[in-house]
Amino acid sequence: MLSFQSLRWRIAFAYAALIVVIMVGLTVYLTRQVQDVAQENVRQTLLADARLLASNRLLRSGLVEARWQPGAAELVDMVTEWGDLLDMRVTVILADGVVLAESFRDAMEMEDHANRKEIIDALAEGVGESTRFSRTTSMLMFYIAVPILPLAPADGEPLGVLRLALPMATVNAGVAPMQTAVIVGGVIAALLTTLLSFFIAERIARPVRRLTSVATQMSQGQWGERLIPTRQDEVGQLIRAFNRMAERLQMQVGFLQHERQRLSIVLENMADGVLILDADGNVQMINPSAARLLHVSTQRVWNVSFPQVARDHRLVEVWRRSQQSDQPEESILEVDRRVLRIVSTPFGETPQRGYNVILQDLTQLRRLETVRRDFISNISHELRTPLASLRALVETLRDGALDDPPAAQRFLDRIETEVDALAQMVQELLELSRIESGRVPLRLKPTPLSDIILRPVERLLPQAERAHIELIVDLQGGVPPVMADAERVQQVITNLVHNAIKHTPAGGTITVRSSMQPELFPDAAIVSVSDTGEGIPSDDLPRIFERFYKVDRARSAGGTGLGLAIAKHIVQAHQGDIWAQSIEGRGSTFSFFLPIVNNNP
Ligand code: ADP
Repeated sequence: MLSFQSLRWRIAFAYAALIVVIMVGLTVYLTRQVQDVAQENVRQTLLADARLLASNRLLRSGLVEARWQPGAAELVDMVTEWGDLLDMRVTVILADGVVLAESFRDAMEMEDHANRKEIIDALAEGVGESTRFSRTTSMLMFYIAVPILPLAPADGEPLGVLRLALPMATVNAGVAPMQTAVIVGGVIAALLTTLLSFFIAERIARPVRRLTSVATQMSQGQWGERLIPTRQDEVGQLIRAFNRMAERLQMQVGFLQHERQRLSIVLENMADGVLILDADGNVQMINPSAARLLHVSTQRVWNVSFPQVARDHRLVEVWRRSQQSDQPEESILEVDRRVLRIVSTPFGETPQRGYNVILQDLTQLRRLETVRRDFISNISHELRTPLASLRALVETLRDGALDDPPAAQRFLDRIETEVDALAQMVQELLELSRIESGRVPLRLKPTPLSDIILRPVERLLPQAERAHIELIVDLQGGVPPVMADAERVQQVITNLVHNAIKHTPAGGTITVRSSMQPELFPDAAIVSVSDTGEGIPSDDLPRIFERFYKVDRARSAGGTGLGLAIAKHIVQAHQGDIWAQSIEGRGSTFSFFLPIVNNNP
């Protein structure tokens, strides 16, 4: 993360820039100061030297006596000696500007100096100085001049001026190393403090960087990361506060995840379909039940509009109504041969507005209702016929048949038959309801099929003979025993053979057969009852196991229509199944299978 936008660089640059500006300013100021001090020193020294030389008695007396002409050898020698001693230019000028002697050049060649600034100042104020380019030496020179006074000052005007001159280069020569030292010091200090500023910036920025990295990890779901606060300062406090916040967030996220998980388990497993739509009716959530009811896949419908998902204008209509009325709306509709109850409930305010659509499958409930209704109407119908004939018989008896004993006997026989039929029906109904409700526990034990088949067949043999029907039993070898409650399964055989006798005309044959069909039923034995009777129309075939169902009410008078229903329930209670095949006019075959006893469990 070496971006110059980073906190570390911004702090470091700010510090460094500030330090550099201060250091440059300080260096410039100091070099000036050094120069000023050095020049002042030179000036003071020059002034002291000039005053000393100007007070020279020989010079003064010579001037008083006007002993020398310009360029006088004696004076020039003196001045030159002074100049050599001081390593400076020494000039003696008369008050009127005439140069008397000069250590550097011949005074004769020099022009009049009366208008030189330092000379004028020296004569007027006692000290004169000037920095200017000298044509004599062709250099920038610093001049200082003092008046040469008569021996007794009270005597009057200055006699002349003594001037000392030094090239500025010499003046500045002493300054340069000092200035260099100041500049070098400044640069070193600037470098060091800049480095320090980087170090400080890094110290400030590092915890912020670490916080950022931990926060980034948290945003990616890694909640385990924490920072250890190593400092007591504000950064330490920030880290501690951050850790506390992370702790609480982790708890809350965990809690929310848990809640969400529970909610999704409920939604996944509930029988009702649930959809959440957004304000525009796009599916935001759909549970598996809803997807099943609408024949869509849960993955494919996200953000797809409800009309496209429901594909039925009546369902969409309910949602639209709730959208307009802002109230829950519901409807019960038949969709794809299913009875669906749909409830659409608006929730939330814009922009979080949405709709909760619930789909309930009432098909099974409706079917049960129909079955119950059919059952009641069937049973009333079944009771009405024998009761009506009983009433007729009783009335006939009362109206005089009692007086005719042989007729009365006949009527009583018929009454007995009707009552027996009623009693049997009630008996069968009770039986059915007990088997259906599982209130008759099966006493399952390994039973050979012969034990199940032979007894009911023997019992029905006389009846078959009376009807001139041949009854054959064919027990195939190698069929293992079945797990069965023998008495119950015998009842199944009885019902089937009894039906076959009833529906087979004289001369027909009924075959009861036991067999194995390992390729179809590897763990079961099959029992079938075939007849050569009237058969069952294919339209009726699927319904004959229903309660009270009779193919031809007129033909099967006397039957209750419960026998096959009872048989089916008994077989199913044995984990088996029963079915019928038939060709009308040629005969029927009823078959059922029962689990065989497994020898190697
Ligand atoms: P039921 O007491 O009337 O015999 P079942 O439940 O035993 O009642 O039979 C239902 C109907 O199935 C009967 O009314 C009859 O029409 C038809 N059925 C049953 N077995 C046979 C068969 N072997 N041949 C032809 N029809 C049959």
